[in-house]
Amino acid sequence: MEPVCTDCGIKFQREPGYFLGSIYFNYGLTALLVIVVYFAIFFGTNLPQPQVLWSLTAVCVLFPIWFFRYARSLWVGMDRYFDRTGNPPQKDDQER
Ligand SMILES: [Zn+2]
Repeated sequence: MEPVCTDCGIKFQREPGYFLGSIYFNYGLTALLVIVVYFAIFFGTNLPQPQVLWSLTAVCVLFPIWFFRYARSLWVGMDRYFDRTGNPPQKDDQER
């Protein structure tokens, strides 16, 4: 991941552990997805339970890996929206 946005100069990595919060997005959306899909399969089809279990386990592993970068993007967007105390990006921020 780039340390700063090459377009506008926003510093992405503000401090160590900054992107820990993106896990909330990733975990929350994964859990929501699995719950909705599980109930849709449970009430909508007649698939055997072990097949459903292993399929949703695969979703639980693969979806967060795919969604990783989008979760970070959502985290940065939320942080930029709610935390307006930060200084606007400076030109010299790009050199660090
Ligand atoms: Zn940008």
